[in-house]
Amino acid sequence: MDIYEELGVSKLINAAGTYTVVGGSRMSEITLKAMQEAANSHVSIRELQRRVGARIAELTHNEAAYITCGAAAGLYLAAAACVAAKLGQAAATLTFQETSGCEVVVFKTHRNPYDWSLRQLGVRITEVQCSGDGSAASKADLANAITDHTIAVFYTLSGWLEEGALGLQDTVAVAESRGVPVIVDAAAQVPPVDNLWNFTKAGVTAAIFSGGKDLRGPQASGLMVGKQWLVDILLEEAFPNSGIGRMLKVGREEIAGLFAAVKQYVNMDHVARAQWCGEQIRLLKAAFVGESGVIVERSFPNEAGQPLPRAIVRFADSQRNASEIANDLLNGSPAVYVKLAGKDGIYVNPMTLAEGELAIVIERLRQVLKDS
Ligand SMILES: *Cc1c(COP(=O)(O)O)cnc(C)c1O
Repeated sequence: MDIYEELGVSKLINAAGTYTVVGGSRMSEITLKAMQEAANSHVSIRELQRRVGARIAELTHNEAAYITCGAAAGLYLAAAACVAAKLGQAAATLTFQETSGCEVVVFKTHRNPYDWSLRQLGVRITEVQCSGDGSAASKADLANAITDHTIAVFYTLSGWLEEGALGLQDTVAVAESRGVPVIVDAAAQVPPVDNLWNFTKAGVTAAIFSGGKDLRGPQASGLMVGKQWLVDILLEEAFPNSGIGRMLKVGREEIAGLFAAVKQYVNMDHVARAQWCGEQIRLLKAAFVGESGVIVERSFPNEAGQPLPRAIVRFADSQRNASEIANDLLNGSPAVYVKLAGKDGIYVNPMTLAEGELAIVIERLRQVLKDS
């Protein structure tokens, strides 16, 4: 009996992707072993952060790196560091009065629920309007939004954003000319692996990734890569220092685990992995070929904009809609978690499937369709 059986919590087969609500991704044995080793001894967390940061910076061709307890926490800590830099003050002891006098500039289409991380810090958000008619905001629009109180431009990258923001390179150019840092929420922007250095090469101050998505680190971890000056502030601001960053605790197990995961990620065969995903889609297609009313198509890239294929399974003449089918998949045994593709289809995303799990997904899908 495993821990979930003991608790009566049903296990899911994740055919949706690196969604945090179902635990994002799975750590490798090597990563789990690193966490276990880290748990066995006491060390100075400060020393560990410095060492791991330096090693990850090297692995990812960056000036500096820092491990947080998640991407969302990283956004908060990076913004606080930018306030501190602007005011010439120690980040750990910033007051709400100080943060609320500061502004973060954000493109309107980049607003999303994760930007609560900034709002919780107390900074004001200045939106740059995006016309919504397909034409992008201009460099002048961004420049006009920057004032003497601006501590950073916040930039979101994801496949689900609406168009309308200025491109990253132009954004960096405008921000740089005004001496304003650029913080990028790139939580789900690997793969491709080179995004671990692409954004910082483009000149951003900090690019922030989730450790628990495709990096396959610990769920409660996040990676910040970027400028040394920013990471230097974080070393004084974030856990284990008391003050503003103290609540965002990151354990030695997470720090060691994410280090192990990043090491594997930069060394893994990403071409072979993408091919494996493509093969899962071909197998799924083959399983339903000739089946009336079921059409399997390849879809690329995925919802986060990652260059990995997923499948859309459309139910052409089913009596029931796709959301009922998805519910049946989730409520049966073993439970299969999928995302909807409109009213008449579901996505099957191979990126979070383990070897052998596709066969179970196919079997469950057959069963659900037979019953419908
Ligand atoms: C997942 C995600 C986050 C949050 O990442 P955590 O590591 O879970 O904190 C933030 N922003 C975007 C765009 C994301 O996709």
